[in-house]
Amino acid sequence: MASQTGAIVQQSLNKLLGSPAFLHHLQGAERTQAFTSLGAILSTPNKIHKSFLRITLDKGEVVRIPAFRIQHNDTLGPYKGGIRFHESVNEEEVTNLAALMTLKNALHEVPFGGAKGGVAISPREFTDRELYLICKKYVQYFADVLGPDKDIPAPDVGTGEREMDWMTAEYKSIHPGQPYLGSFTGKSVTNGGSLGRREATGKGVYMTMSYLLSGFLKEHSTLMAGSSSRFAATAVELSSKELRVAVQGFGNVGSVAALQAASCQELRNKVVAVSDRNTTLYHPDGLDIPALIEWARHNRGDLPASSEQLDAAGIQGKALGREEILYLDVDVLILAALEDQIREDNVKRVQARLIVEGANAPVTGEADRILSDRGVIIIPDILANAGGVIVSYLEWLQGRETQFYSHEEIDRRLAIKMKSTMSTILPLYFEEESMTLRECCYMQAVGKLATMLYLQGKLY
Ligand code: GLU
Repeated sequence: MASQTGAIVQQSLNKLLGSPAFLHHLQGAERTQAFTSLGAILSTPNKIHKSFLRITLDKGEVVRIPAFRIQHNDTLGPYKGGIRFHESVNEEEVTNLAALMTLKNALHEVPFGGAKGGVAISPREFTDRELYLICKKYVQYFADVLGPDKDIPAPDVGTGEREMDWMTAEYKSIHPGQPYLGSFTGKSVTNGGSLGRREATGKGVYMTMSYLLSGFLKEHSTLMAGSSSRFAATAVELSSKELRVAVQGFGNVGSVAALQAASCQELRNKVVAVSDRNTTLYHPDGLDIPALIEWARHNRGDLPASSEQLDAAGIQGKALGREEILYLDVDVLILAALEDQIREDNVKRVQARLIVEGANAPVTGEADRILSDRGVIIIPDILANAGGVIVSYLEWLQGRETQFYSHEEIDRRLAIKMKSTMSTILPLYFEEESMTLRECCYMQAVGKLATMLYLQGKLY
């Protein structure tokens, strides 16, 4: 587990150990023993599956590609988590992402454990046929440990509906006659996927920010007025102004979050900047997000990056270096690209007062501490980007029932779930000046896992 995740899990356990009301049946040496077990269980994955996928490339070359499925914890249900195709994939990274899935599902009371998969490739460098073979091989190599009641993968960075459809088909041919709709989520709607799954993560990301700055503030005006927390002061300040929003990453999560922000009726937003792997686009009066989405759809997902392309796309705006998105004078920064974007070495240049983690682990532990000391609110990954797995759960349910919900019904259930978690966590956050929102979320998730492990008799 990466140091930040591991350290906050341990810190949460120490706090829970010191709260007499928590698992009060456990006393003395038995209590110490139980918490030592908890630390050991949560800091290590249950199983690491690693393989090298052998593929013959179109030009005839044979390669062996490192691939992982790491199952962190299944206390709350079958393992669940995406499969990422990215050149940076390695065992440590996938293990940490698997642990984040355990915590994310526990936090939102989604009845799944946590897992993650990864294949160490840069998907853009492979042909469609090669990617198809990689997907097939992945399922063949890990077929025994996957399944609707064992471990249910989903898309992640570098994968989407197409890959899930291919993988589901392979799973189906390996397990003929068995239920297969629940074996993968994030499938295309035609192939048994859920309406609303594609947009779910981006929508959920935006919901956390709009609920925090609008709905929650209205519902808890007395709490907020009486709070001495520096984070409450930041929230109140932001809620009363027109927000300049920047979004890093224009893939499935970032583009949807940007569109939600640009079309929001509850907050006064201006999406002044978006970025991708090539460029940052900036306009102080706000960018035309629907036009950018349209452009990206026809250009392999890329934003227009030169002045000719900006003209062709009909976009008013300036192209800056791709990192510049992080340092602009904005109120809100939505991080929807990759991990480790804001670190100790660049955190000083970040000006946003609210950071939303659409990606997993985009802010390092050191940067988190520095920003929090400045009163910056960080809505952490396990809270902000759970929309994907929440709707994955709905997809899995629909697959079991072979009854499908309408798009409105999915959006309604997603909003209920996100708000329910937020309304449990936010009062703790604004009352407890000493805890960051990430720490509050971890306390809740670790508390849930600890209670379940205790009830299941696992804390010996
Ligand atoms: N990959 C997404 C995540 O990190 C979705 C996982 C899922 O739907 O299982 O949360």
